[in-house]
Amino acid sequence: MRITVLGNSGPYPRPGGACSGYLFEDGSTKILIDCGNGTLSRLQQIIHRLDDLDMIIISHLHSDHIADAMVLRYAIGINKAKGMISKSIPLFAPGEPKADFDKLQFQDAFIMKEISEDLVIHQNELSIGFKKMVHPVPCYGMTIEKNGKKFVYSADTKYCDQIFQLAKDADLLLCESGVLERDKTEDTAHLSAKEAGEIGMVSRVKKLMLTHFWPGYTLDEILQEAKENFDGELILSEEMKTYEI
Ligand SMILES: [Zn+2]
Ligand SMILES: [Zn+2]
Repeated sequence: MRITVLGNSGPYPRPGGACSGYLFEDGSTKILIDCGNGTLSRLQQIIHRLDDLDMIIISHLHSDHIADAMVLRYAIGINKAKGMISKSIPLFAPGEPKADFDKLQFQDAFIMKEISEDLVIHQNELSIGFKKMVHPVPCYGMTIEKNGKKFVYSADTKYCDQIFQLAKDADLLLCESGVLERDKTEDTAHLSAKEAGEIGMVSRVKKLMLTHFWPGYTLDEILQEAKENFDGELILSEEMKTYEI
């Protein structure tokens, strides 16, 4: 299993960057996780045909995670109508806000499916599960497991018990660190880098990879804060870099 970071900014891109989007691959299986602005361009540098995607999973319907799905629907819909793409792509997303969920569809580009905590997706040997995080809109963190290996993506979340449960014993935890401690308030809907480190430590993850960087921070201050709580293998995600799980 491996993951390529298409974009790691949030909630808007740094100059030249892109927002949340990750290509997960296992053998020939290809899953796009989140589709923030700037990620479709990057995705097409890696895959030759959009119908090579087995599915798309959207953690939540905030713009920095779905903006390029709005144009991906054109790419798939139009190429399907022209006979250049053979199939609609299954797209899993939270059903709320309903107006945003409904807006994703265009010319049957997607086979729309709602995420719930009960949902388990089986794709070849992969098992994909979900846990609801704490965020202003319904948002699901996810696990992808195969043969005892476990990949976890936090999605966007406040500090909560659920992220510790989700992350437990992960081989790789891809964890948002949208803020630094100095900017946290009661209303902050994101994890700080320090909290991400704590989650990685307590959940005994083998590798902790941070993402969802606010362009106003330097990468060094994010790294230093996360290090305060985590003494394992700590990675700052890099766009267009592929990581083995
Ligand atoms: Zn976000
Ligand atoms: Zn969000």
